[in-house]
Amino acid sequence: MADGTAGAPEMDVDDVRAALEAKAADVGAQMEELSAPTAEAGGISFGKRVGDGTSLAVERLSQVAAYGRLQRLLEDVRRAEQKLDDGTYGTCDSCGRPIAPARLEALPWAVECVECAGARRR
Ligand SMILES: [Zn+2]
Repeated sequence: MADGTAGAPEMDVDDVRAALEAKAADVGAQMEELSAPTAEAGGISFGKRVGDGTSLAVERLSQVAAYGRLQRLLEDVRRAEQKLDDGTYGTCDSCGRPIAPARLEALPWAVECVECAGARRR
């Protein structure tokens, strides 16, 4: 299984799968990092001014938001992997139309076309 990489100028499923796996690992690591600081928070913040508690809470909130974003991203990555198996990779999950190749190149885990992803964000 050493050869077979040449002569595929468009989309190489193995490449995409590798990119998705790498992304999933990366996102997973980031999620672990975000949830890690909670354990040691008690020791460090002791004896500081009351105002620091607020900024800590705000930090926690943005961490929770970031964590949520990563979680959704991971879901997309997993869904994209599933779509590779299904043979529906590159097709929008919402409207069924093809996802632009440039979008897939930038975001290999995109499971919706630009229009649908944009509509959901609003
Ligand atoms: Zn769509």
